[in-house]
Parts: sequence; C-alpha cells; structure tokens
Amino acid sequence: MPNECIFCKIVRGEIPSTKIFESEKSLAFLDISPAARGHALVIPKNHAEFLTEMNEEDLKDLILAVKKVAKAVVASAGAQGFNVIQSNHKIAGQVIPHVHFHIIPRKASDELSFAWKHIELDKEEIAAFGERVKENLE
Ligand SMILES: [Zn+2]
Repeated sequence: MPNECIFCKIVRGEIPSTKIFESEKSLAFLDISPAARGHALVIPKNHAEFLTEMNEEDLKDLILAVKKVAKAVVASAGAQGFNVIQSNHKIAGQVIPHVHFHIIPRKASDELSFAWKHIELDKEEIAAFGERVKENLE
C-alpha cells in the first residue's frame, strides 16, 4: 500500500529526512543507516516497488537525479569513487518495497566490499543465454 510505504511518507513529509535534492519526480536524502559517510538514497516520488514497474518519464528523471547526487556526494565526502546499488525483490536484498538507488561514496580507507564470486560458464552457455534474453526483450 503506497500510503503505508515509508518512502512515500518521506516524500509526503510525514517522516522527517535529510533531503539533499529534489526534482519534480525524484527525491534524494541521506540514509539513516549509512554504509559510509554521505550514503544517499535517490527515489522516485511516485510509488513503484520495482525498477521494472516504473514508467519511462519517472525513470529518466530518477537516473539523472542519481548522476547529480552522486557527483555532489562524492565531492562532499572527499571520496575517490562511489557505488550505485539498486536491488529488486527480497531475494536480491530489497528491504523497502519502493524503488531506491543507494549511492555509497568510496574511499581507499573504507572496509566496504561489494565483491562477488564468479561462476564458471563456457562461451556456448553464455551465447545461448544471450539468445534467450533477446527473445524476452519487450
Ligand atoms: Zn512508496
């Protein structure tokens, strides 16, 4: 329910947040449980649970907001880089059921890691999977 959604409440101002950027369709604020100083969240103002549910207009505005906020957060944190993390569905680690991009500034001294193990796939398996994906494009 959008009305009970914690991020929709932040958009409506019913829950306080440290807002750092706002456009017509997007809002950015600092994460209250940050992985690093400057960890920001960028969300669409219109409720959508998953990235794949968003309309193009909201999505374009959102990714431009991500770019703008990332540059400002990196500069403000004195960081050397940043990660953008966007998770969909519980299996992928999505906790709040409202689309959000994490922007996490990175420094050489931080002890964060978003590394993963690689799986073994041969070239034929990769090519076959590529064909399957093309068949599923909408
Ligand atoms: Zn929401």
